[in-house]
Amino acid sequence: MKVLVINAGSSSLKYQLLDTGTQDVLAKGLCERIGIDGRFTYKAPGRETVDAVSIPMPTHAEAIQAVLDALVDPANGVISSMKEIDAVGHRVVHGGETFASSVKIDDKVMAAIEECVPLAPLHNPANITGIKACIAVMGPEVPQVAVFDTAFHQTMPPVAYTYAIPYEYYENDKVRRYGFHGTSHKYVTQRAADMLGKPIESLKLISCHLGNGSSVAAVKYGKSVDTSMGFTPLAGLPMGTRAGDLDAGILEFLMKKYGLDIDAMLNILNKKSGVLGVSGVSSDFRDLSKAGEEGNARAALALDIFSYSVKKYIGSLAAVMGGVDAIIFTAGVGENDADQRMAIASGLEFMGVKMDPDANNVRGKEAVISAIDSKVQVLLIPTNEELMIALDTAALV
Ligand code: ADP
Repeated sequence: MKVLVINAGSSSLKYQLLDTGTQDVLAKGLCERIGIDGRFTYKAPGRETVDAVSIPMPTHAEAIQAVLDALVDPANGVISSMKEIDAVGHRVVHGGETFASSVKIDDKVMAAIEECVPLAPLHNPANITGIKACIAVMGPEVPQVAVFDTAFHQTMPPVAYTYAIPYEYYENDKVRRYGFHGTSHKYVTQRAADMLGKPIESLKLISCHLGNGSSVAAVKYGKSVDTSMGFTPLAGLPMGTRAGDLDAGILEFLMKKYGLDIDAMLNILNKKSGVLGVSGVSSDFRDLSKAGEEGNARAALALDIFSYSVKKYIGSLAAVMGGVDAIIFTAGVGENDADQRMAIASGLEFMGVKMDPDANNVRGKEAVISAIDSKVQVLLIPTNEELMIALDTAALV
């Protein structure tokens, strides 16, 4: 089946056309600066790459049209007509408590996704715009599927998702832990089970998605039972620019002292904190490693805070599950940064984790990076959210 995967942001749209049978990416690219001056990129194996600026894209509908035109282009395209696209899978950030799995989109589903807008005011409206644009351009007969970042974590028990604040904020306002990166955690834990040759229903797994945004999830017998992100993706680990967990009293202290309003405070916590905030150097781990090696103490501290925090979560999630069979590293940092993986996993020998430094010297491909006699397997598994979205979409249509 050929599935078009769409990840729509407010002024951008990432796309991939996948064959779910062979799992091959037939073409992929990006529409950027939608509503501004329009930039379009297109890549397909054996075809000419397109990178075009000043493409008129006043709305997402023109962006989708540009994608379809490129896919069917007689010289450069990969399909002969739009009819070859069997379905479209959309990444949707927030599914609230309504969606515990992916779903085929109809009017009722659209209304329910709209109801989740207050929970993700920056993301869900853009995702909705992407869905509407696809329906408008491709017609109602092409099935559209929504795949939610939050859905995989809907199996968390109340003890993991309930905040210790007055209960009516949960009952009336749906304030609770939701968790994010669900598509990635689901994909890598399934791959881990495949790699270990054991049914996922028999495994206790900790998935570390460490990228620009980072989260850790405890996946027990195939179900997410706890995760580090919370009501929003601001919680949990310190990230590239996000603070992660902190004492809420700090907000009052800084807001009063510097006369900040809540928007200014949240801007600091979302955009100026994390490893960028501590180091004052960069949010990119490559820059921080370089600066650290050159003697920048704050860059080194930022890296240490990050690995310390991931280690702390691994310990607590192992406690929550009563043990762990395998720890998985994925996403930009998890897949590429051998030093971070080593720093995170070292000191965990007491719970059966023994790394193999040679095996850990690897990047961006599936590998076992723990020692042969390690009780807990440590795995590197590149994430593939687009493939997961395409497979969910194919399964539903
Ligand atoms: P996103 O959360 O935006 O999807 P990614 O998963 O792509 O992010 O991760 C991006 C981050 O991965 C970069 O900011 C960088 O810190 C890190 N990264 C990428 N390549 C490397 C590398 N070779 N070594 C260390 N860190 C890397």
